[in-house]
Amino acid sequence: MDQSTLIFVLAIHLVCSGGLYWLIGRAMPPRSGVNRWAVGAVMFGLAYGGRLLVGQPVPAPMQLLLDGAMAVAALLFFTGLREFVGKPAGRWPMFAGFLLVFVVLHGLLVWQFGLVGRHALLNLLLGSLYGGLALEAFRARGHQHAALRPPLLFLALMMGSLALPTLARGVLIVSVGPDPLYRGLFAQFYYGYASLAAVMLGLNLVWLVFSRLNTQLAELASRDPLTRLLNRNGLDEVVARHFAARETRPVTLLQIDIDHFKRINDSLGHAAGDRVLREVAAALASSVRASDFIARTGGEEFLVGCVAADDGVAWALAERLLGAVRRLDIKVPGAKVPVHCTVSVGISGRCGQKGDWERCWADADRALYAAKAAGRDRIVAASALRADLR
Ligand code: GH3
Ligand code: MG
Ligand code: MG
Repeated sequence: MDQSTLIFVLAIHLVCSGGLYWLIGRAMPPRSGVNRWAVGAVMFGLAYGGRLLVGQPVPAPMQLLLDGAMAVAALLFFTGLREFVGKPAGRWPMFAGFLLVFVVLHGLLVWQFGLVGRHALLNLLLGSLYGGLALEAFRARGHQHAALRPPLLFLALMMGSLALPTLARGVLIVSVGPDPLYRGLFAQFYYGYASLAAVMLGLNLVWLVFSRLNTQLAELASRDPLTRLLNRNGLDEVVARHFAARETRPVTLLQIDIDHFKRINDSLGHAAGDRVLREVAAALASSVRASDFIARTGGEEFLVGCVAADDGVAWALAERLLGAVRRLDIKVPGAKVPVHCTVSVGISGRCGQKGDWERCWADADRALYAAKAAGRDRIVAASALRADLR
């Protein structure tokens, strides 16, 4: 395929896929970054198409317009990814500043070095933005959900492999001039690879969006929106997964209930009650070990699964939980002094298999009931209950 056909295909592809990204972006939550990719792709496609339409030599104002469109488009790709991974992405003043600096540099370099200055600037700038995007994607893997890591790695590889020949063009042009780079084999390779990358990046974007929505959906189904702890559904899944493992470790259940929570609601209002629930949940969650699990199983009730622990470890964990809640100073709007609260904890026996789960949970519940009856703010183990109470 000759070079003009390759650029034509690339331009059409970018404009059409950019339009599709726009429609995908409309179905996404605000500030997902997809709309920036959409506008960037359309701008890039129009700039490539413009180059073909205008033909050679490109008049100076047109050069500035087309190159400026490409530079802003690459910045939109870069900031679109930052927005997607939840980083500050900059708004129009940043774009205006970027464009201003670009126009000044472009004018100076074209005035001093003609075509070489123009192409060196554009390629070095695009290559740096592609490289920056690759780096952002690579770095973001660490903070994103596991499902997003493969598409982010793929994006990093794709953009990195596009950055290298683009930067190479920017550097080589200074020594060999534009002709060997913009005609012949190198140009065919470059535009051929750019066309392939445009197709792959479109699919990559769909992969990213799909993984993001899928993880959000799973999160919504398994987490309680107020405390972000597992809900009943999420707990069922974790328990099923735990007991499906080849070597199952026993679990001790700790049933926890906030003491006199209704009083907080009644005296300070439901919103204050919600604040207390969130803070207690956070305190409990930060006190359990990474191998344990914690769920909100009812209004002001929580269940902790203490994995592979003997009775002493489960009791020590319960004491840690009790202490963490006692230490809380919960600031509630409208209340002059911080709210303090306590919890009661019931501890089950060790649950070795899925079939024992309900019985162990009922034991923990009975122990909790005994802790409440004995005055609250305390721990009772099911093993300590008298046989006639069971
Ligand atoms: P006890 O020490 O015996 O556990 O007393 P309690 O007041 O904590 O228990 P009770 O079961 O009488 O009251 C629980 C209260 O929790 C009643 C309900 O309105 C409140 N509640 C349940 N879910 C929520 C919630 O999501 N937000 C708020 N603010 N309150 C909730
Ligand atoms: Mg309660
Ligand atoms: Mg309760």
